[in-house]
This record gives sequence, structure tokens and C-alpha cells, in this order.
Amino acid sequence: MANYRPFDVVIVGAGPAGLALGTLLRPEQRVLVLERRALPASSPPIGESLPGAAAVLLQRLQLLAAFRESGHRERGAAVSVWDEDRPVWRDAIQDPAGPGWYLDRRKFEQMLRRRALDVGVTLEEGCKQMDIRHCQAQWQLDTTLGSFSAPVLVDATGRSGHLGRRLGLRRYADDPLLCLYCFLDQAAESQDATMRIQADSHGWWYTVNLPYGQRVLAYHMDVDDPLCRRLLRRPDAFLARAREHALLAEVLAGLAPARVRGRPAGSSLLEVEQLPKAGPGFLAIGDALLAFDPLASQGLFHSLASAASAAKAIESGLHQSLGAYQQEMQAVSQRYLWHLKASYQGPRRFSHSTFWQRRQQTANWGRMG
Ligand SMILES: Cc1cc2nc3c(=O)[nH]c(=O)nc-3n(C[C@H](O)[C@H](O)[C@H](O)COP(=O)(O)OP(=O)(O)OC[C@H]3O[C@@H](n4cnc5c(N)ncnc54)[C@H](O)[C@@H]3O)c2cc1C
Repeated sequence: MANYRPFDVVIVGAGPAGLALGTLLRPEQRVLVLERRALPASSPPIGESLPGAAAVLLQRLQLLAAFRESGHRERGAAVSVWDEDRPVWRDAIQDPAGPGWYLDRRKFEQMLRRRALDVGVTLEEGCKQMDIRHCQAQWQLDTTLGSFSAPVLVDATGRSGHLGRRLGLRRYADDPLLCLYCFLDQAAESQDATMRIQADSHGWWYTVNLPYGQRVLAYHMDVDDPLCRRLLRRPDAFLARAREHALLAEVLAGLAPARVRGRPAGSSLLEVEQLPKAGPGFLAIGDALLAFDPLASQGLFHSLASAASAAKAIESGLHQSLGAYQQEMQAVSQRYLWHLKASYQGPRRFSHSTFWQRRQQTANWGRMG
């Protein structure tokens, strides 16, 4: 019989959501965060846009001052060629919560990790496998790093929603959107803080200048589009295709092609009302609960916000507070889907193409409607 090391809360996944939740629960709770990766990823994660409203959440984590000194770039205007074939500008100053930031994602995640360790979260990294069962009001986890138990188990494994799926929870709105992206070296330091967004017949692009001398260029298209495979193999063709659009060509001049990577990026949402079916004391947060389309630019904010709501629910007793957490997250999910649907309705000039048909025909949204 295994000897289980006892905790109050076990969180699986040390991304922004898991680390934020662990931090918020200390010092009252004994918290274990179990992470699959032994080392940080070798390439920077994609996803750099953080809205100004996140300042309140960073303050709650007591990280706002450190965050402001970390060299993240303040967001400038956004310019998009979307509804019509002409650029439309939106000034960042119009956001009442402030313009927000383009992050150095590595620094951001290191900051969250350091804070979690400073407040006494136990972090176990390199956890390759685990068996999970619920027994006598405890979740028992037998892992490659040891055996642990806790009355509360949290899925923070990102858009795979690994724990929830294992415990039989269904996800809906699994969208075949793939993000192809590359990090381009800037020859000279550029202060350009403009986000450029461009729709075309196969999907949509964005590019933005990152705070560490690189520019990210991303193209969102359907994974079954034959063009997708070709662009993944051909960095030169990827860059050349982006340069066909004047809005992008302006800032891509003189940049050399770089390796193109692909990441699933479509909406993938847990059926929030099903949460209790996984077992007592089970929660999901961040992308493991609701993974958003990058068009929303809300994934990181949602990770921190859902961690804050989950911390409140755990502190006030999950058996009483789970319903309120579910209601709040259902409202988030509905608001998100409403805005996403409206955004994809915009470019009517591509209604003949498969990518836009899939997202503009209401019937294709299934449960998302
Ligand atoms: C192409 C793209 C662009 C994006 N752009 C933006 C953007 O501009 N702005 C924005 O706010 N958001 C953006 N996002 C979304 C944002 O990156 C995510 O919402 C955010 O990273 C979610 O944080 P998380 O902690 O929930 O999950 P993750 O960051 O995915 O972290 C999950 C962690 O769990 C670990 N893990 C997974 N499985 C296991 C397991 N079985 N056992 C143990 N550990 C496990 C992983 O290694 C990882 O460390 C983008 C996403 C994509 C795909």
C-alpha cells in the first residue's frame, strides 16, 4: 500500500493558471503543483497579448510592481483588414482598463513560477505518468515522482484538459483551427507596438513586435487545408504569402524566414455543467476549462481570472461554492462564444471559402450556438 504524502490541494499543470492558483491558496493551504515538463520549453510559447484588465489580477498575486519592471512592451494601436478590404485602426487608449502589454512570455512564466515557490507552493516537475483514483474523500495520485493525496484536485493541464478527459468529462466546440507561427529576428531594434491583423481566404494573420528583438508572425487556418502542410515545411513560402498583404509587408521587409511551427488553437470548451461528474473536489481552470480562439486574445487573462475564482471557491468550501464557480464560468463561456461568432461573421467577402463557411454558418457551431 502506497504511503500518500498529504496536501490540501493538488494542481496538475504549472502553466499560468496552475501557478496563479497555487500562489493564491498559500499560506492557508498545503499546495502541490505537478508538472509534466522537467525543463522549460526550448522555444518561447506563442501568445503574448495581455489586456490591461489583468493588472488587477497581477496585483492580487502581489506581482504588479515586478511585472511592470520586467520589460514587457505596452500595447499600441491595432490595425486590421477584416470586415472590409481596407485597414481600420483602433487606438489602445480606448480600452478603459488601459492598453495592456505584449509579453516576454518566458519572463512572465518565470515570474509566476518564482512567486509560487516564494510563497511555499511545492512544485514537482518531470511528472511523466500518474494513476488517479478517488477514495474516502481523497484524491490519490500515484506518479513517477511519488504518491500524493488531497481532497481537492485541479486540472490546469491546458487545452488538452488531460485530467478532465481521463475522468470522463466531455469537451465541445473542438475547432480544427491550427496556428502556424514563426519568430523572426529583427535586424534593428524596433519600437513599433502596433498589432496587425489581416483576414484572407484561407484564414487570418497577425504580427506583432515582441519585447526581445523578435517579431511573431502567425497564420490561423484549418488543419485539413492542404496549404497548411506546405507552409509548415516552407518558411520562405510562409513569409512570401504574408508579404502578399500590404499591411503585413510594411513590417516584414528585410526579415529572413525562420522555422514555422504549428499549434492547435481553436476553441475547446469543457461542458462546465458536467464538472461534478468527475468526482467530489474536482475543478478545472484556465485552458483546461475553456481554451479560447487566439482571436479573442483573452486566454492568459482567463487563466488568471479563473484561478482567482477557483481560489475563492476552494477557500469557502468547494461543496458549497462549486455551483457559483460553474455559473460564473458558464457566463464567461457564453460571452466569449457570442463575441467570437460576431467576429467571424465580419469578412463576408470570403464567404465562398471553406475556412469562413465553417465559421459563418450557424449550423456549424453546434453546441457553441
Ligand atoms: C496560437 C495561440 C496564440 C495565443 N495568443 C494569446 C494571446 O495573444 N493572449 C492571450 O492571453 N492568450 C493567448 N493564447 C492562449 C494562452 O497561451 C493560454 O490561454 C494560456 O497559456 C493558458 O494557460 P494554462 O495555464 O491554462 O495552460 P498552459 O499554458 O497550456 O499550461 C498547462 C501546463 O500543464 C502542463 N501539463 C499538460 N499536461 C500535463 C500532464 N498530463 N501532467 C502534468 N502537467 C501537464 C503543461 O506542460 C503546461 O506547463 C494563445 C494560444 C495559442 C495556441
